[in-house]
Amino acid sequence: MATYRKCKKLFQDATKVIPGGVNSPVRAFKAVNSEPIFIDRAKGAYLYDADGNKYIDYCLSWGPMILGHARTEVLTQVKKVMAKGTSFGIPTELETQLAGMIVRAIGSVEKVRLVSSGTEAVMTAIRLARGCTGRDKIIKFIGCYHGHVDSLLVQAGSGAMTLGSPSSPGVPKDFTKHTILLPYNNTEMLARAMNKYQDRIAAVIVEPIAGNMGVVPPREGFLKTIRKLCTGSGSVLIFDEVITGFRVKYGSVQDIFGVKADLTCLGKIIGGGFPIGACGGRAKLMNKLAPTGQVYQAGTLSGNPVCVAAGIATLKLLKSKAIYSGLDRATGKLCDGIGQALTERGTEHTINRIGSMFTLFFNAGPVTDYVSAARSDTKMYAKFHPAMLREGVYLPPSQFEACFLSARHTQKDIDRTIIAARRAKL
Ligand SMILES: *Cc1c(COP(=O)(O)O)cnc(C)c1O
Repeated sequence: MATYRKCKKLFQDATKVIPGGVNSPVRAFKAVNSEPIFIDRAKGAYLYDADGNKYIDYCLSWGPMILGHARTEVLTQVKKVMAKGTSFGIPTELETQLAGMIVRAIGSVEKVRLVSSGTEAVMTAIRLARGCTGRDKIIKFIGCYHGHVDSLLVQAGSGAMTLGSPSSPGVPKDFTKHTILLPYNNTEMLARAMNKYQDRIAAVIVEPIAGNMGVVPPREGFLKTIRKLCTGSGSVLIFDEVITGFRVKYGSVQDIFGVKADLTCLGKIIGGGFPIGACGGRAKLMNKLAPTGQVYQAGTLSGNPVCVAAGIATLKLLKSKAIYSGLDRATGKLCDGIGQALTERGTEHTINRIGSMFTLFFNAGPVTDYVSAARSDTKMYAKFHPAMLREGVYLPPSQFEACFLSARHTQKDIDRTIIAARRAKL
């Protein structure tokens, strides 16, 4: 029987010096009415907590560890680079290498600016879109998350098509008054909003496959319609691919949906487990950034050699191995197995999956937007999560998150996870 004595103590200690004991809120396990485990180490598909409990990890640091934890090839490169110094604030060849890999992988990206987080990538894209259109308004979809950017921390009001009001204290109303919120997968509402605001929309930002209300794939034609409307009104189309970039295939999901974004935001996987972000697009647009252009953007540790080396090593492995088809197959088997286990138990559920990203919603479904995702039985998830933890399976500690597989998850791991889903006390 797993015990969590040390984890409990570490959490108590942490709460004394860190707000809520965590450095990012969802880690506090509040959404599952529980307390966080504390990790000592990780290798491949497994996490080991401070009490020595081992877990099959389906969160993978919220996506980045697609190759598995502590991947030797990545660590070797990082150590090599680190020995030569960890930050210069002066250009290095490595930055050009990683930028080149991204440019070659994503058709709509000719130039890319590296930053230190997904949030910064989105901030850069938004400012660039506003700067080069001379417009203020941004359209965002309810349930999509784009980092903790002030103007995007918005919640929907009571009306169907609403202007955002801040979803967090500390964000002035003036900062969100230019953010228009619309339901995901709803092309009619989008067309109406674009018509209403005409040439005042600087950008439409979207997760091409939503991952932050749980996984919600775009409906047939949704992304194409956004593209058409943006082109028609001269608005910048921003794809936030901080999760999907290099997750579903090598490069961007734009190829899958036959849609080209004007700006693409990346993060997570391209840092191989180190802090990174990137914003890229056509050269003409990207050159509007300082120093070639007027739109200001900067970062002390941007393009840091350690993060960049980890990113290069990760992308090299992702490119050279047929990882994605294997991940797709394995994740399909896992989802089928979990689905079957829950059906046998008579537990209502819907599993949304694209490639190696998926969410198990305790919800009869279909889950196509925020409203339908929010119908999920979060109390059930709050039982399922700790029960799976006790069975040695680590899932993200909230119903509304994406689960991920890594190239290191084996058939045995999948079988064990399905057995866990059968046995987990609900
Ligand atoms: C994680 C995430 C971000 C924010 O990235 P950080 O590195 O946490 O700042 C932005 N957009 C999406 C879609 C994300 O999933």
